[in-house]
Amino acid sequence: MALQIVWFRRDLRTTDHASLAAAAARGPCLCLFVYEPELLQAPDFDPTHLEFLNQSLASLHSDLQRLGNQLVLRVGRLPDVFIELHREFGISAIFGHEETGNWISYQRDRRVRAWAKAAGIPCHEFPSNGVVRRLSSRDDWSAIWKQRMRHLVIPEPAEVPSVPAQLSITSAPTLTWQQAGLTAPRVCSPQAGGRQQAIDCLQSFLQVRGRNYRSEMSSPVTAAESCSRISPYLTYGCLSVREAVSAGRQRLQQLRSEQQSGTTVDSAWFQSLVSFESRLAWHCHFIQKLEDEPTIEFRNVNSAFDGLREHEFRTDWFEAWQQGRTGYPMVDACMRSLLAGAWINFRMRAMLMSFAAYHLWLHWRQPALFLARLFLDYEPGIHYCQCQMQSGVTGINAIRIYSPARQAADQDPRGDFIRRWVPELEGVPDEFLAEPQRLTRLQQGLFGCQIGRDYPAPIVHHETAFRAAQQRIFAARDSAAARAAARRVYDRHGSRRRSLTDPER
Ligand SMILES: Cc1cc2nc3c(=O)[nH]c(=O)nc-3n(C[C@H](O)[C@H](O)[C@H](O)COP(=O)(O)OP(=O)(O)OC[C@H]3O[C@@H](n4cnc5c(N)ncnc54)[C@H](O)[C@@H]3O)c2cc1C
Repeated sequence: MALQIVWFRRDLRTTDHASLAAAAARGPCLCLFVYEPELLQAPDFDPTHLEFLNQSLASLHSDLQRLGNQLVLRVGRLPDVFIELHREFGISAIFGHEETGNWISYQRDRRVRAWAKAAGIPCHEFPSNGVVRRLSSRDDWSAIWKQRMRHLVIPEPAEVPSVPAQLSITSAPTLTWQQAGLTAPRVCSPQAGGRQQAIDCLQSFLQVRGRNYRSEMSSPVTAAESCSRISPYLTYGCLSVREAVSAGRQRLQQLRSEQQSGTTVDSAWFQSLVSFESRLAWHCHFIQKLEDEPTIEFRNVNSAFDGLREHEFRTDWFEAWQQGRTGYPMVDACMRSLLAGAWINFRMRAMLMSFAAYHLWLHWRQPALFLARLFLDYEPGIHYCQCQMQSGVTGINAIRIYSPARQAADQDPRGDFIRRWVPELEGVPDEFLAEPQRLTRLQQGLFGCQIGRDYPAPIVHHETAFRAAQQRIFAARDSAAARAAARRVYDRHGSRRRSLTDPER
Protein backbone atom coordinates (compact mmCIF):
# COMPACT_ATOMS: atom_id res chain seq x y z
CA MET A 1 0.00 0.00 0.00
CA ALA A 2 1.57 3.28 -1.13
CA LEU A 3 1.71 6.16 1.35
CA GLN A 4 -0.36 9.27 1.20
CA ILE A 5 1.82 11.85 2.93
CA VAL A 6 0.66 14.99 4.70
CA TRP A 7 3.82 17.08 4.80
CA PHE A 8 3.77 19.59 7.66
CA ARG A 9 6.05 22.60 7.58
CA ARG A 10 4.97 25.92 9.12
CA ASP A 11 1.34 24.79 9.39
CA LEU A 12 1.49 22.95 12.71
CA ARG A 13 -2.19 22.52 13.48
CA THR A 14 -5.09 20.20 12.71
CA THR A 15 -7.89 22.79 12.38
CA ASP A 16 -8.27 25.01 9.31
CA HIS A 17 -5.79 22.76 7.59
CA ALA A 18 -6.93 22.17 4.02
CA SER A 19 -4.36 19.55 3.08
CA LEU A 20 -4.91 17.45 6.21
CA ALA A 21 -8.69 17.58 5.69
CA ALA A 22 -8.37 16.59 2.02
CA ALA A 23 -5.93 13.74 2.67
CA ALA A 24 -7.86 12.40 5.68
CA ALA A 25 -11.04 12.26 3.58
CA ARG A 26 -9.25 10.06 1.03
CA GLY A 27 -7.81 7.48 3.39
CA PRO A 28 -4.82 6.55 5.55
CA CYS A 29 -2.17 9.25 5.90
CA LEU A 30 1.42 9.43 7.02
CA CYS A 31 1.77 12.77 8.84
CA LEU A 32 5.35 13.88 8.39
CA PHE A 33 7.59 16.69 9.58
CA VAL A 34 11.19 16.87 8.37
CA TYR A 35 13.92 18.72 10.27
CA GLU A 36 16.03 20.11 7.46
CA PRO A 37 19.67 20.77 8.39
CA GLU A 38 20.02 23.44 5.71
CA LEU A 39 17.21 25.44 7.33
CA LEU A 40 18.49 24.85 10.86
CA GLN A 41 22.01 25.96 9.91
CA ALA A 42 20.88 29.04 8.00
CA PRO A 43 21.96 32.48 9.24
CA ASP A 44 18.35 33.47 10.03
CA PHE A 45 17.76 30.52 12.38
CA ASP A 46 18.17 30.62 16.15
CA PRO A 47 18.07 27.86 18.80
CA THR A 48 15.11 29.66 20.39
CA HIS A 49 13.21 29.02 17.16
CA LEU A 50 13.97 25.31 17.52
CA GLU A 51 12.61 25.30 21.07
CA PHE A 52 9.34 26.87 19.95
CA LEU A 53 9.17 24.57 16.94
CA ASN A 54 9.66 21.47 19.11
CA GLN A 55 6.93 22.56 21.52
CA SER A 56 4.60 23.09 18.57
CA LEU A 57 5.49 19.69 17.09
CA ALA A 58 4.77 17.97 20.42
CA SER A 59 1.39 19.68 20.53
CA LEU A 60 0.61 18.65 16.94
CA HIS A 61 1.65 15.07 17.70
CA SER A 62 -0.76 14.85 20.61
CA ASP A 63 -3.59 16.36 18.52
CA LEU A 64 -2.93 13.82 15.77
CA GLN A 65 -2.90 11.00 18.34
CA ARG A 66 -6.31 12.14 19.52
CA LEU A 67 -7.47 11.80 15.90
CA GLY A 68 -6.03 8.29 15.58
CA ASN A 69 -2.73 9.14 13.93
CA GLN A 70 0.69 10.43 14.94
CA LEU A 71 3.41 12.77 13.73
CA VAL A 72 6.42 11.05 12.18
CA LEU A 73 9.64 13.02 12.41
CA ARG A 74 12.58 12.62 10.08
CA VAL A 75 15.86 14.51 9.68
CA GLY A 76 17.40 15.15 6.30
CA ARG A 77 17.55 17.05 3.07
CA LEU A 78 14.59 17.15 0.73
CA PRO A 79 13.62 15.47 -1.47
CA ASP A 80 16.04 12.79 -0.15
CA VAL A 81 13.71 11.92 2.75
CA PHE A 82 10.83 11.47 0.30
CA ILE A 83 13.03 9.40 -2.03
CA GLU A 84 13.87 7.06 0.84
CA LEU A 85 10.23 6.69 1.90
CA HIS A 86 9.23 6.10 -1.70
CA ARG A 87 11.85 3.39 -2.11
CA GLU A 88 10.80 1.66 1.10
CA PHE A 89 7.02 1.98 1.01
CA GLY A 90 5.98 3.80 -2.16
CA ILE A 91 4.31 7.22 -2.06
CA SER A 92 0.95 7.73 -3.75
CA ALA A 93 0.58 11.49 -3.15
CA ILE A 94 2.00 14.39 -1.15
CA PHE A 95 -0.34 16.90 0.48
CA GLY A 96 0.99 20.18 1.81
CA HIS A 97 0.37 23.90 2.18
CA GLU A 98 1.76 26.65 -0.03
CA GLU A 99 4.58 27.95 2.11
CA THR A 100 6.11 31.35 1.48
CA GLY A 101 9.36 31.00 3.36
CA ASN A 102 12.97 31.98 2.94
CA TRP A 103 15.07 31.30 -0.15
CA ILE A 104 16.20 27.89 1.15
CA SER A 105 12.62 26.70 1.57
CA TYR A 106 11.69 28.16 -1.81
CA GLN A 107 14.45 26.18 -3.52
CA ARG A 108 13.56 23.10 -1.48
CA ASP A 109 9.93 23.27 -2.65
CA ARG A 110 11.06 23.51 -6.26
CA ARG A 111 13.28 20.44 -5.82
CA VAL A 112 10.47 18.46 -4.22
CA ARG A 113 8.01 19.41 -6.95
CA ALA A 114 10.48 18.52 -9.71
CA TRP A 115 11.30 15.15 -8.14
CA ALA A 116 7.63 14.30 -7.52
CA LYS A 117 6.76 15.19 -11.09
CA ALA A 118 9.53 12.99 -12.46
CA ALA A 119 8.45 10.15 -10.14
CA GLY A 120 4.82 10.55 -11.19
CA ILE A 121 3.68 11.43 -7.66
CA PRO A 122 0.96 14.08 -7.45
CA CYS A 123 1.69 17.03 -5.12
CA HIS A 124 -1.49 18.66 -3.81
CA GLU A 125 -0.77 22.11 -2.42
CA PHE A 126 -3.35 24.26 -0.66
CA PRO A 127 -3.31 27.92 0.36
CA SER A 128 -3.17 28.38 4.12
CA ASN A 129 -3.71 32.14 4.51
CA GLY A 130 -4.42 35.15 2.33
CA VAL A 131 -1.28 34.79 0.21
CA VAL A 132 -2.06 33.98 -3.41
CA ARG A 133 0.20 31.78 -5.49
CA ARG A 134 0.71 32.93 -9.08
CA LEU A 135 -1.21 36.14 -8.43
CA SER A 136 -1.80 37.70 -11.80
CA SER A 137 -2.37 41.27 -10.64
CA ARG A 138 -2.05 43.11 -7.33
CA ASP A 139 -5.34 44.79 -8.19
CA ASP A 140 -7.12 41.54 -7.35
CA TRP A 141 -5.34 40.74 -4.12
CA SER A 142 -7.51 42.53 -1.60
CA ALA A 143 -10.72 40.98 -2.95
CA ILE A 144 -9.19 37.52 -2.83
CA TRP A 145 -8.04 38.08 0.76
CA LYS A 146 -11.52 39.16 1.80
CA GLN A 147 -13.10 36.22 0.04
CA ARG A 148 -10.75 33.75 1.73
CA MET A 149 -11.41 35.27 5.13
CA ARG A 150 -15.16 34.94 4.56
CA HIS A 151 -14.85 31.18 4.11
CA LEU A 152 -15.58 29.18 7.22
CA VAL A 153 -12.65 27.83 9.19
CA ILE A 154 -12.10 24.23 8.03
CA PRO A 155 -13.05 21.95 10.94
CA GLU A 156 -10.56 19.49 12.35
CA PRO A 157 -11.17 16.07 10.72
CA ALA A 158 -13.13 13.70 12.95
CA GLU A 159 -10.42 11.15 12.28
CA VAL A 160 -7.10 11.04 10.46
CA PRO A 161 -6.80 7.39 9.41
CA SER A 162 -3.41 5.96 10.11
CA VAL A 163 -1.24 3.83 7.80
CA PRO A 164 -1.18 0.11 8.78
CA ALA A 165 0.93 -0.57 11.87
CA GLN A 166 2.69 -3.48 10.15
CA LEU A 167 4.52 -1.00 7.94
CA SER A 168 6.46 -0.12 11.12
CA ILE A 169 7.33 3.41 10.03
CA THR A 170 9.70 4.79 12.62
CA SER A 171 9.92 8.36 13.84
CA ALA A 172 13.15 10.16 14.72
CA PRO A 173 13.28 11.64 18.23
CA THR A 174 12.73 15.35 18.79
CA LEU A 175 15.86 17.12 17.58
CA THR A 176 17.85 18.89 20.27
CA TRP A 177 19.94 21.99 19.63
CA GLN A 178 23.07 19.85 20.12
CA GLN A 179 21.96 17.37 17.45
CA ALA A 180 21.06 20.24 15.17
CA GLY A 181 24.62 21.56 15.54
CA LEU A 182 23.42 24.77 17.17
CA THR A 183 24.67 26.64 20.21
CA ALA A 184 22.61 26.54 23.42
CA PRO A 185 19.61 28.88 23.35
CA ARG A 186 20.66 32.25 24.73
CA VAL A 187 17.44 32.66 26.61
CA CYS A 188 14.11 30.97 27.25
CA SER A 189 11.45 31.69 24.65
CA PRO A 190 9.23 34.60 25.66
CA GLN A 191 6.27 32.40 24.64
CA ALA A 192 5.77 28.64 24.54
CA GLY A 193 4.77 26.95 21.28
CA GLY A 194 1.67 24.81 20.77
CA ARG A 195 -1.95 24.89 19.76
CA GLN A 196 -3.47 25.42 23.20
CA GLN A 197 -1.00 28.23 23.92
CA ALA A 198 -2.02 29.86 20.64
CA ILE A 199 -5.72 29.68 21.46
CA ASP A 200 -5.19 30.92 25.01
CA CYS A 201 -3.11 33.83 23.74
CA LEU A 202 -5.70 34.85 21.14
CA GLN A 203 -8.61 34.51 23.54
CA SER A 204 -6.96 36.43 26.38
CA PHE A 205 -6.36 39.23 23.87
CA LEU A 206 -9.90 39.22 22.50
CA GLN A 207 -11.61 38.90 25.88
CA VAL A 208 -9.39 40.98 28.17
CA ARG A 209 -6.01 42.33 27.06
CA GLY A 210 -7.01 43.86 23.74
CA ARG A 211 -9.37 46.58 24.89
CA ASN A 212 -6.82 49.39 24.59
CA TYR A 213 -4.83 47.76 21.78
CA ARG A 214 -5.38 50.76 19.48
CA SER A 215 -4.06 53.33 21.92
CA GLU A 216 -1.42 51.23 23.70
CA MET A 217 0.23 49.32 20.83
CA SER A 218 3.00 51.84 20.21
CA SER A 219 4.50 52.13 23.68
CA PRO A 220 6.93 49.41 24.76
CA VAL A 221 5.58 49.89 28.29
CA THR A 222 2.02 48.86 27.44
CA ALA A 223 2.31 46.93 24.16
CA ALA A 224 3.52 43.62 25.58
CA GLU A 225 0.20 43.28 27.38
CA SER A 226 -2.11 45.10 24.97
CA CYS A 227 -0.94 43.61 21.68
CA SER A 228 -2.22 40.19 20.73
CA ARG A 229 1.20 38.44 20.77
CA ILE A 230 -0.11 35.83 18.34
CA SER A 231 2.67 36.40 15.79
CA PRO A 232 4.84 33.34 16.64
CA TYR A 233 1.73 31.15 16.47
CA LEU A 234 0.96 32.50 13.00
CA THR A 235 4.59 32.02 11.94
CA TYR A 236 4.61 28.33 12.84
CA GLY A 237 0.99 27.84 11.85
CA CYS A 238 -0.28 26.78 15.30
CA LEU A 239 -3.07 29.20 14.39
CA SER A 240 -4.26 30.28 10.95
CA VAL A 241 -4.83 33.88 9.91
CA ARG A 242 -8.42 32.97 9.07
CA GLU A 243 -8.98 31.60 12.59
CA ALA A 244 -7.69 34.85 14.06
CA VAL A 245 -9.84 36.95 11.71
CA SER A 246 -12.88 34.84 12.43
CA ALA A 247 -12.39 34.94 16.22
CA GLY A 248 -11.94 38.73 16.06
CA ARG A 249 -15.16 39.12 14.06
CA GLN A 250 -17.09 36.91 16.46
CA ARG A 251 -15.90 38.99 19.39
CA LEU A 252 -16.88 42.19 17.59
CA GLN A 253 -20.31 40.75 16.91
CA GLN A 254 -20.69 39.71 20.54
CA LEU A 255 -19.81 43.22 21.77
CA ARG A 256 -22.23 44.81 19.29
CA SER A 257 -25.02 42.51 20.48
CA GLU A 258 -24.24 43.34 24.10
CA GLN A 259 -24.36 47.03 23.29
CA GLN A 260 -27.65 46.67 21.43
CA SER A 261 -29.15 44.89 24.40
CA GLY A 262 -28.27 47.83 26.64
CA THR A 263 -25.00 46.68 28.23
CA THR A 264 -22.34 49.36 28.44
CA VAL A 265 -19.39 48.43 26.27
CA ASP A 266 -16.15 50.41 26.25
CA SER A 267 -15.95 51.92 22.75
CA ALA A 268 -12.18 51.34 22.74
CA TRP A 269 -12.94 47.69 22.02
CA PHE A 270 -14.48 48.49 18.64
CA GLN A 271 -11.52 50.52 17.40
CA SER A 272 -9.10 47.94 18.71
CA LEU A 273 -10.78 45.00 17.02
CA VAL A 274 -10.99 46.81 13.69
CA SER A 275 -7.28 47.69 13.93
CA PHE A 276 -6.49 44.09 14.79
CA GLU A 277 -8.15 42.80 11.65
CA SER A 278 -6.35 45.33 9.48
CA ARG A 279 -3.01 44.08 10.88
CA LEU A 280 -3.98 40.54 9.97
CA ALA A 281 -4.51 41.77 6.41
CA TRP A 282 -1.07 43.41 6.52
CA HIS A 283 0.36 40.06 7.58
CA CYS A 284 -0.66 38.51 4.27
CA HIS A 285 -0.07 41.70 2.28
CA PHE A 286 3.62 41.69 3.19
CA ILE A 287 4.12 37.95 2.72
CA GLN A 288 2.53 38.31 -0.72
CA LYS A 289 5.48 40.50 -1.73
CA LEU A 290 7.99 37.77 -0.97
CA GLU A 291 5.74 35.22 -2.65
CA ASP A 292 5.78 37.33 -5.81
CA GLU A 293 9.47 38.25 -5.63
CA PRO A 294 11.54 35.81 -3.54
CA THR A 295 14.77 37.80 -4.02
CA ILE A 296 13.38 40.49 -1.68
CA GLU A 297 15.22 38.51 0.99
CA PHE A 298 18.56 39.66 -0.46
CA ARG A 299 18.01 42.53 -2.86
CA ASN A 300 16.51 45.97 -2.69
CA VAL A 301 12.98 45.72 -4.01
CA ASN A 302 13.76 48.96 -5.82
CA SER A 303 17.06 48.52 -7.66
CA ALA A 304 17.55 52.28 -7.94
CA PHE A 305 18.77 52.19 -4.32
CA ASP A 306 21.48 49.60 -5.08
CA GLY A 307 24.92 50.78 -4.05
CA LEU A 308 23.61 53.45 -1.69
CA ARG A 309 24.90 51.86 1.51
CA GLU A 310 26.68 48.64 0.53
CA HIS A 311 30.21 50.04 0.52
CA GLU A 312 30.05 52.02 3.74
CA PHE A 313 29.29 49.35 6.29
CA ARG A 314 30.76 50.40 9.67
CA THR A 315 31.37 47.15 11.52
CA ASP A 316 32.09 48.96 14.81
CA TRP A 317 28.74 50.75 14.64
CA PHE A 318 26.97 47.53 13.73
CA GLU A 319 28.52 45.85 16.77
CA ALA A 320 27.50 48.68 19.07
CA TRP A 321 23.93 48.44 17.72
CA GLN A 322 23.88 44.64 18.17
CA GLN A 323 25.08 44.94 21.76
CA GLY A 324 22.75 47.77 22.78
CA ARG A 325 25.67 50.15 23.28
CA THR A 326 24.96 52.99 20.86
CA GLY A 327 24.65 55.66 23.54
CA TYR A 328 20.98 56.15 22.57
CA PRO A 329 19.05 54.79 25.57
CA MET A 330 15.79 54.08 23.75
CA VAL A 331 17.60 52.15 21.01
CA ASP A 332 19.79 50.32 23.53
CA ALA A 333 16.82 49.44 25.75
CA CYS A 334 15.04 47.85 22.78
CA MET A 335 18.07 45.85 21.73
CA ARG A 336 18.93 44.73 25.25
CA SER A 337 15.34 43.64 25.87
CA LEU A 338 15.51 41.50 22.72
CA LEU A 339 18.86 40.05 23.73
CA ALA A 340 17.29 39.10 27.07
CA GLY A 341 14.58 37.21 25.18
CA ALA A 342 11.76 39.74 25.48
CA TRP A 343 9.35 40.70 22.72
CA ILE A 344 9.13 44.21 21.29
CA ASN A 345 6.33 45.93 19.47
CA PHE A 346 6.09 47.26 15.93
CA ARG A 347 7.07 50.85 16.69
CA MET A 348 10.22 49.85 18.55
CA ARG A 349 11.19 47.38 15.81
CA ALA A 350 10.75 50.15 13.28
CA MET A 351 12.87 52.53 15.35
CA LEU A 352 15.66 49.96 15.79
CA MET A 353 15.79 49.29 12.08
CA SER A 354 15.51 52.95 11.13
CA PHE A 355 18.37 53.82 13.49
CA ALA A 356 20.58 51.16 11.88
CA ALA A 357 19.66 52.24 8.36
CA TYR A 358 19.69 56.03 8.73
CA HIS A 359 21.74 57.11 11.74
CA LEU A 360 24.35 54.39 11.18
CA TRP A 361 23.82 54.15 7.41
CA LEU A 362 24.03 50.34 7.53
CA HIS A 363 22.68 48.31 4.63
CA TRP A 364 19.56 46.46 5.86
CA ARG A 365 20.65 42.90 5.11
CA GLN A 366 22.97 42.25 8.10
CA PRO A 367 20.76 44.02 10.67
CA ALA A 368 17.77 42.12 9.25
CA LEU A 369 19.48 38.76 9.74
CA PHE A 370 20.48 39.70 13.26
CA LEU A 371 16.90 40.70 14.14
CA ALA A 372 15.53 37.57 12.43
CA ARG A 373 17.38 35.48 15.00
CA LEU A 374 16.13 37.60 17.88
CA PHE A 375 12.48 37.61 16.79
CA LEU A 376 10.62 34.48 17.84
CA ASP A 377 7.97 35.38 15.27
CA TYR A 378 10.48 35.74 12.42
CA GLU A 379 8.40 35.57 9.27
CA PRO A 380 10.56 36.17 6.16
CA GLY A 381 7.85 37.84 4.08
CA ILE A 382 7.00 40.41 6.71
CA HIS A 383 10.50 40.78 8.06
CA TYR A 384 12.49 41.59 4.92
CA CYS A 385 9.77 43.86 3.54
CA GLN A 386 9.62 45.78 6.81
CA CYS A 387 13.40 46.02 7.04
CA GLN A 388 13.54 47.42 3.51
CA MET A 389 10.67 49.79 4.21
CA GLN A 390 12.28 51.12 7.38
CA SER A 391 15.49 51.67 5.39
CA GLY A 392 13.74 53.71 2.72
CA VAL A 393 14.67 51.50 -0.23
CA THR A 394 11.24 50.65 -1.60
CA GLY A 395 10.59 54.03 -3.18
CA ILE A 396 6.85 53.70 -2.54
CA ASN A 397 6.58 54.18 1.22
CA ALA A 398 6.89 57.32 3.31
CA ILE A 399 10.41 57.92 4.63
CA ARG A 400 10.37 57.77 8.43
CA ILE A 401 13.55 58.54 10.29
CA TYR A 402 12.73 58.07 13.95
CA SER A 403 14.33 60.26 16.57
CA PRO A 404 15.12 57.98 19.52
CA ALA A 405 14.76 60.88 21.97
CA ARG A 406 11.35 61.77 20.55
CA GLN A 407 10.23 58.16 20.79
CA ALA A 408 11.39 58.07 24.41
CA ALA A 409 9.41 61.22 25.17
CA ASP A 410 6.27 59.93 23.43
CA GLN A 411 6.33 56.24 24.28
CA ASP A 412 8.24 56.03 27.56
CA PRO A 413 7.67 59.39 29.24
CA ARG A 414 8.40 58.14 32.76
CA GLY A 415 11.45 56.21 31.65
CA ASP A 416 10.17 52.84 32.92
CA PHE A 417 11.29 50.97 29.83
CA ILE A 418 14.69 52.62 29.62
CA ARG A 419 15.43 52.17 33.32
CA ARG A 420 14.45 48.52 33.17
CA TRP A 421 16.81 47.64 30.34
CA VAL A 422 19.57 50.20 30.79
CA PRO A 423 20.17 50.03 34.53
CA GLU A 424 23.28 52.23 34.30
CA LEU A 425 20.82 55.11 33.89
CA GLU A 426 18.75 54.18 36.95
CA GLY A 427 19.61 57.34 38.87
CA VAL A 428 19.36 59.76 35.93
CA PRO A 429 16.34 62.13 36.17
CA ASP A 430 13.55 61.74 33.58
CA GLU A 431 14.44 64.93 31.71
CA PHE A 432 17.93 63.61 30.81
CA LEU A 433 17.10 59.95 30.42
CA ALA A 434 16.78 59.89 26.64
CA GLU A 435 19.92 61.99 26.13
CA PRO A 436 22.16 61.45 29.15
CA GLN A 437 25.12 63.01 27.30
CA ARG A 438 23.47 66.36 28.08
CA LEU A 439 24.36 65.94 31.75
CA THR A 440 27.25 68.08 32.93
CA ARG A 441 30.25 66.32 34.44
CA LEU A 442 29.06 67.43 37.85
CA GLN A 443 25.57 66.04 37.26
CA GLN A 444 27.01 62.77 35.95
CA GLY A 445 28.86 62.37 39.23
CA LEU A 446 25.78 63.33 41.20
CA PHE A 447 23.49 60.84 39.42
CA GLY A 448 26.03 58.01 39.37
CA CYS A 449 26.55 57.64 35.63
CA GLN A 450 29.67 58.85 33.93
CA ILE A 451 29.14 59.03 30.19
CA GLY A 452 31.88 57.20 28.31
CA ARG A 453 32.62 55.03 31.33
CA ASP A 454 29.34 53.73 32.78
CA TYR A 455 27.29 54.27 29.64
CA PRO A 456 28.58 54.99 26.11
CA ALA A 457 28.57 58.45 24.60
CA PRO A 458 26.38 58.53 21.44
CA ILE A 459 28.28 56.82 18.62
CA VAL A 460 26.88 59.33 16.13
CA HIS A 461 25.54 62.84 16.56
CA HIS A 462 21.77 62.74 16.07
CA GLU A 463 21.26 65.99 14.15
CA THR A 464 24.25 65.44 11.86
CA ALA A 465 23.42 61.80 11.10
CA PHE A 466 19.73 62.59 10.67
CA ARG A 467 20.33 65.43 8.20
CA ALA A 468 22.93 63.51 6.20
CA ALA A 469 20.65 60.47 5.90
CA GLN A 470 17.67 62.61 4.96
CA GLN A 471 19.62 64.36 2.24
CA ARG A 472 21.03 61.16 0.76
CA ILE A 473 17.83 59.16 0.83
CA PHE A 474 15.73 61.93 -0.70
CA ALA A 475 18.34 62.58 -3.39
CA ALA A 476 18.31 58.88 -4.30
CA ARG A 477 14.54 58.73 -4.19
CA ASP A 478 14.06 61.74 -6.39
CA SER A 479 16.21 60.51 -9.27
CA ALA A 480 14.40 59.69 -12.52
CA ALA A 481 15.59 56.08 -12.29
CA ALA A 482 14.19 55.70 -8.77
CA ARG A 483 10.83 57.15 -9.78
CA ALA A 484 10.57 54.78 -12.75
CA ALA A 485 11.54 51.84 -10.59
CA ALA A 486 9.03 52.93 -7.92
CA ARG A 487 6.28 52.68 -10.49
CA ARG A 488 7.24 49.07 -11.18
CA VAL A 489 7.42 48.31 -7.42
CA TYR A 490 3.99 49.83 -6.89
CA ASP A 491 2.45 47.87 -9.77
CA ARG A 492 3.85 44.64 -8.48
CA HIS A 493 3.62 45.07 -4.71
CA GLY A 494 1.86 48.25 -3.69
CA SER A 495 -1.29 48.12 -1.66
CA ARG A 496 -4.30 49.41 -3.55
CA ARG A 497 -5.72 50.55 -0.22
CA ARG A 498 -3.59 53.10 1.54
CA SER A 499 -4.41 51.71 4.95
CA LEU A 500 -2.66 48.47 4.10
CA THR A 501 0.71 49.98 3.30
CA ASP A 502 0.93 52.67 5.90
CA PRO A 503 3.29 51.32 8.55
CA GLU A 504 2.25 53.97 11.09
CA ARG A 505 -0.02 52.75 13.82
C1 LIG B 1 11.76 45.82 11.21
C2 LIG B 1 10.51 45.00 11.46
C3 LIG B 1 10.56 43.63 11.40
C4 LIG B 1 9.41 42.86 11.61
N1 LIG B 1 9.51 41.51 11.55
C5 LIG B 1 8.40 40.75 11.75
C6 LIG B 1 8.49 39.33 11.67
O1 LIG B 1 9.54 38.74 11.42
N2 LIG B 1 7.35 38.60 11.90
C7 LIG B 1 6.15 39.22 12.17
O2 LIG B 1 5.15 38.52 12.38
N3 LIG B 1 6.06 40.55 12.22
C8 LIG B 1 7.13 41.34 12.03
N4 LIG B 1 7.03 42.70 12.10
C9 LIG B 1 5.69 43.33 12.22
C10 LIG B 1 5.17 43.57 13.64
O3 LIG B 1 6.10 44.27 14.39
C11 LIG B 1 4.78 42.27 14.35
O4 LIG B 1 3.91 41.51 13.53
C12 LIG B 1 4.03 42.50 15.65
O5 LIG B 1 4.78 43.34 16.49
C13 LIG B 1 3.78 41.15 16.33
O6 LIG B 1 3.16 41.31 17.57
P1 LIG B 1 1.63 40.95 17.79
O7 LIG B 1 1.36 39.55 17.35
O8 LIG B 1 1.28 41.29 19.18
O9 LIG B 1 0.92 41.92 16.76
P2 LIG B 1 -0.50 42.61 16.75
O10 LIG B 1 -0.26 44.07 16.76
O11 LIG B 1 -1.38 42.05 17.79
O12 LIG B 1 -1.05 42.25 15.29
C14 LIG B 1 -1.69 41.00 15.01
C15 LIG B 1 -0.96 40.34 13.86
O13 LIG B 1 -1.00 41.19 12.72
C16 LIG B 1 0.23 41.08 12.00
N5 LIG B 1 0.90 42.38 11.98
C17 LIG B 1 0.88 43.32 12.93
N6 LIG B 1 1.59 44.39 12.54
C18 LIG B 1 2.08 44.10 11.33
C19 LIG B 1 2.90 44.80 10.40
N7 LIG B 1 3.33 46.04 10.63
N8 LIG B 1 3.22 44.20 9.24
C20 LIG B 1 2.76 42.96 8.95
N9 LIG B 1 1.98 42.23 9.80
C21 LIG B 1 1.65 42.81 10.96
C22 LIG B 1 1.08 40.04 12.72
O14 LIG B 1 0.85 38.80 12.13
C23 LIG B 1 0.51 40.08 14.12
O15 LIG B 1 0.70 38.88 14.82
C24 LIG B 1 8.17 43.51 11.90
C25 LIG B 1 8.13 44.89 11.97
C26 LIG B 1 9.29 45.64 11.75
C27 LIG B 1 9.21 47.12 11.85
